[in-house]
Amino acid sequence: MAVSWTAHRFAGGVLALDLANTVVLRGDAVRGFDRFADLAELPRFAAAASHHRSAELRGRTLAVANAERAAPAVIAVRETADAAFRHAANEGRLRCGALGQLLEACAAAMAGGEALELAAELRLVPGEAAVALETAAAVSALSLLRPAMIERLRVCANCRWLFLDSSRNKSRIWCDMAVCGNRHKARRHYRRSREVDHAPQD
Ligand SMILES: [Zn+2]
Repeated sequence: MAVSWTAHRFAGGVLALDLANTVVLRGDAVRGFDRFADLAELPRFAAAASHHRSAELRGRTLAVANAERAAPAVIAVRETADAAFRHAANEGRLRCGALGQLLEACAAAMAGGEALELAAELRLVPGEAAVALETAAAVSALSLLRPAMIERLRVCANCRWLFLDSSRNKSRIWCDMAVCGNRHKARRHYRRSREVDHAPQD
């Protein structure tokens, strides 16, 4: 069934993390799955990301000219970004090997955008031309390699998605309060009511 690319699926805060989050429940062999198992989702993700990430993309649109051809580079950036930034979110530090693999994937993904100009802080500059999804994802990943960004990387306590905590006091624990925060609250409430039900009678 086609994925509905709702705003919630862009809770990562930046394109590179939204892309990492296209694997659902990563590491869970039973319930985990890849939204790009059907490559037809690549251009659909790109179209939705063009909308939800318009500020980061400076109004440019993301292009997937040929999903099969783009997939290896997109997936390579996705997987290496997830590994590097998940470690950084958990440990507050980058691992040399994971960073090397991310840079290698980014180099390959950026090769197709040789003429594309970037601002000094590694952002796209405004323009009319569409940007290949893998190139924009690589630029997005590189833009996270700053102390101010690394220290805001988080893993959602409910769904394990990566997200950038842009809250003022850096205290967010859910990728999306409306979804994961509420699910957690509902579960806690359910557990409490069960505990009351099963409390020994005296
Ligand atoms: Zn979550």
